[in-house]
Amino acid sequence: MEWEVVIGLEIHTQLNTKTKIFSAAATAYGADPNTQACAVDLGLPGVLPVLNKEAVAKAAMFGLAVDATINDGSVFDRKNYFYPDLPKGYQISQLAIPIVEHGKLEIALEDGSTKVVGITRAHLEEDAGKSLHEDFDGMTGIDLNRAGTPLIEIVSEPEMSSAKEAVAYMKKIHSIVQYLGICDGNMQEGSFRCDANVSVRRKGEMELGTRTETKNLNSFRFVERAINYEIERQIDVIESGGRVVQETRLYDADDDSTRTMRTKEEANDYRYFPDPDLLPVKLDADLLVQLQEQLPELPDVKQKRFCNQYGLNNDDAEQISASRDMADYFEQVVKYANGEAKMAVNWVSGELSGALNQNNLEIGQTQVSAERLAQLISRISDNTISGKIAKEVFQAMWSSDKTADQVIEEKGLQQILDIGELEAIVDKVVGENPKQAEQYLSGKDKVFGFFVGKVMQITKGKANPAQVNELLKSKLV
Ligand code: ADP
Ligand code: MG
Repeated sequence: MEWEVVIGLEIHTQLNTKTKIFSAAATAYGADPNTQACAVDLGLPGVLPVLNKEAVAKAAMFGLAVDATINDGSVFDRKNYFYPDLPKGYQISQLAIPIVEHGKLEIALEDGSTKVVGITRAHLEEDAGKSLHEDFDGMTGIDLNRAGTPLIEIVSEPEMSSAKEAVAYMKKIHSIVQYLGICDGNMQEGSFRCDANVSVRRKGEMELGTRTETKNLNSFRFVERAINYEIERQIDVIESGGRVVQETRLYDADDDSTRTMRTKEEANDYRYFPDPDLLPVKLDADLLVQLQEQLPELPDVKQKRFCNQYGLNNDDAEQISASRDMADYFEQVVKYANGEAKMAVNWVSGELSGALNQNNLEIGQTQVSAERLAQLISRISDNTISGKIAKEVFQAMWSSDKTADQVIEEKGLQQILDIGELEAIVDKVVGENPKQAEQYLSGKDKVFGFFVGKVMQITKGKANPAQVNELLKSKLV
């Protein structure tokens, strides 16, 4: 590879406070348009913003989780621009002194190594409203429910060097803000979205290339695709003698490409200045101490603990600890299933996650509780049923309130453990298929599978595979 890729992300994270950052209006998603926008959010003359203490605490908590400096005395600035969904004519943000600075985050790379990505800053700001272009007979509607919703914008250093790394970084931040309970993480509803800054340069060059910024990517897949598209586009431009123009671009998921939104020449001059209605943010003396105490076990630490405590491999531990709720559920299963950790991981990230995805449910809405799943796992480990039959049992459990034992009992799915009964079936199968027996004895090992299949067919999968193998081997001699 002759080219080096440089990526920096700006992630907008909606803080899940009950009320807005500068007003008492509710923030709940999905209300009828403009039913949750008060005079402050509408930007009516004469109103004054009042800072939401919880938003400050949540931003600071994020800072603690990424080893950052929490600034006492951060300042709110007005970022001036005109847009229909911004009736005040300015957005309140933080420029020179953000609440959080100089953090860092470790991400896992594909080759198993790790890398630390710097977090330049995370500043508090208010979200704008929304323009709605549907259902208005060619007119555009403005919904100001989102106006004033608290955000932190998390800005990384330009230190990622592939789309995969950028996605790993974004997933890690996504996981952390949900661990902290400061953001619901819902990307479809826009609670967590990202702008991707991308540039390329020839290997060995010291100066960074000219970057483009692709706006408002609200899925990990879009981030990866938009970045890869930009990398190829920029390399093409330079290799064919052109120059990359610094600009803001939009990703179009329909044809998987990015296009120009505005160039540097058209860029806004935001005329930032400190908001005279808001004082610098003085933190309570004991706020950071309190937050530090409330800090939960974070994904990295949990992952390592899962490896040590349950003997999980790194990949399993990483996958299961990505979501705090999923990790808690997993630990419950292990507890109820007498420490069957490996099976618990497989079932939670396999069948259970599959069923949740299929039904568009979160782990908190699961149809099968940890205790019920644990009983199912115990029935595999005590040889009552095989892993294959267990999947059938799971499906029945998912669509009813029955326990694993009830399903096994009702459907008569217990494994045939009676060795005499199984031996009779094996004898019958071997006796009825002399040709295949001869083939096996003359060295065609593959035919063994034929016999196993026959026995499983007759027993409807209820025979213990290990016992079947053993019996067949002793008979086919
Ligand atoms: P702005 O506010 O205009 O978007 P910033 O300096 O805050 O500018 O940078 C925004 C993001 O762009 C940061 O995440 C930073 O890491 C990234 N970035 C800056 N320069 C480059 C570059 N040459 N290539 C890729 N990313 C860059
Ligand atoms: Mg930017």
